[in-house]
Amino acid sequence: MSDLHNLSVKALATLLQTQEVSAVEVATRFLARMGGNPHNAFLDIDSEVTLAQARASDAKLADGTAGPLEGVPVAHKDVFVTRDFDTTAGSKMLSGYRSPFDATVVQRLRTAGMVTLGKLNCDEFAMGSANENSAYGPVQNPWDTARVPGGSSGGSAAAVAACLAPAATGTDTGGSIRQPASFCGITGIKPTYGRASRYGMIAYASSLDQAGPMARSAEDCALLLSAMCGGDIDRDSTSLDMPTEDFAASLNNSLEGLRIGVPKEFFGEGLHADVRTAVDGALREYEKLGAKLVPISLPRTELSIPVYYIIAPAEASSNLSRFDGVKFGHRAKDYTDLVDMYKKTRAEGFGNEVKRRIMTGAYVLSHGYYDAYYLQAQKIRRMIADDFQNAFKQCDVIAGPVAPSVAWKFGDNANDPVADYLADIFTLPASLAGLPGMSVPAGFGAGGMPVGLQLIGNYFKEAQLLNAAHRLQQATDFHLQKPAGV
Ligand code: GLN
Repeated sequence: MSDLHNLSVKALATLLQTQEVSAVEVATRFLARMGGNPHNAFLDIDSEVTLAQARASDAKLADGTAGPLEGVPVAHKDVFVTRDFDTTAGSKMLSGYRSPFDATVVQRLRTAGMVTLGKLNCDEFAMGSANENSAYGPVQNPWDTARVPGGSSGGSAAAVAACLAPAATGTDTGGSIRQPASFCGITGIKPTYGRASRYGMIAYASSLDQAGPMARSAEDCALLLSAMCGGDIDRDSTSLDMPTEDFAASLNNSLEGLRIGVPKEFFGEGLHADVRTAVDGALREYEKLGAKLVPISLPRTELSIPVYYIIAPAEASSNLSRFDGVKFGHRAKDYTDLVDMYKKTRAEGFGNEVKRRIMTGAYVLSHGYYDAYYLQAQKIRRMIADDFQNAFKQCDVIAGPVAPSVAWKFGDNANDPVADYLADIFTLPASLAGLPGMSVPAGFGAGGMPVGLQLIGNYFKEAQLLNAAHRLQQATDFHLQKPAGV
């Protein structure tokens, strides 16, 4: 079968279960495509490990003990720790680091049968919106290699878009699943905060970090999400002890009468015309599918930028204090005493953006500034969450753009971190509220680049989001388009 790499997770799972193809055959095809590391998407590849997992899957398929996704390949963002591959979080600080255990999400997907293809490039410690902050070089957008893939899960999005993997994991703190999915024309969902265990996910901002799947359709995301989620209360106290849901079960529900809230703040001045046109087109499709558009307001949308860029760095400055050269990771070679060792280790190990966040975070938490910045931000965070609850009195799901523009060119925002921060405006509100959000391909904009539609649901309404996304994908073919040469 020559087109194995083009197949969906669902199609591959079926072929594997019926033993029309073997897991080794599928893994071999993807490993061949990954040769030469196209787009710099991967940070660690080990074909021996992958093939050993595939052989184990084939044995299970043969003896009837296979999991639902047995033998289907997946690649993991390098923020998830893995026993069999290095984990760097895109940082020099963790160069060559090998974890003694697998993250819960990694382990759950393996239990479902998925075979690991390797580890994916990302912004250092998931801080960024363009994958330009990786210590191991940027990732190219497969639609236009002169453009960024988005971030921080840029390697995940590029690998799935270029059919180097049928699906990938990502993490989303302020948009890192949704925005690269939008920039690379794939589908991604960040579930409700607490749905997926954060155990073994290298912490950036713990009150916001959440894992989720990235794939080429809502249906594939549903299959992965069902396998990924589930309580893990002993190892992540913020994970929710809820029964696993079959998110693929309700994909075909009718959208007749679904109330889609359209927040006016998502369609203001900063939104590029090409993105607006594509998003409007998707909203028209929803009307044809029987949904009703309801104008709503999320009045504190703009405040989500300063609020997020206070809270996330504050938590990061605390989380990253563990990288001190003592317990694990990089240690400077020449130092005079302990403090000098800390200083040199951290100066050498962290990149500029990470240092910037640590300094911002330490500042907003410091005596005299805590009340003015951190405490104030926490209060507004609650008001942003309240705004959503008010909106959900009038609608079932909320729709709008994922990002104000399509993927920009390398260097366009270089040396201007604030430009990157501002581009997060539409993904940050749902993150601060802990709500599920997803990106669904909605068309193409400037330079023929993909545009994503963002769908935001109320807490635990992932099934409803995936249903709405699936129905749109039944009516349109944007998600089936591939970059030239793929
Ligand atoms: N761009 C945002 C940041 O830099 C979001 C990143 C993320 O979700 N991990 O913090």
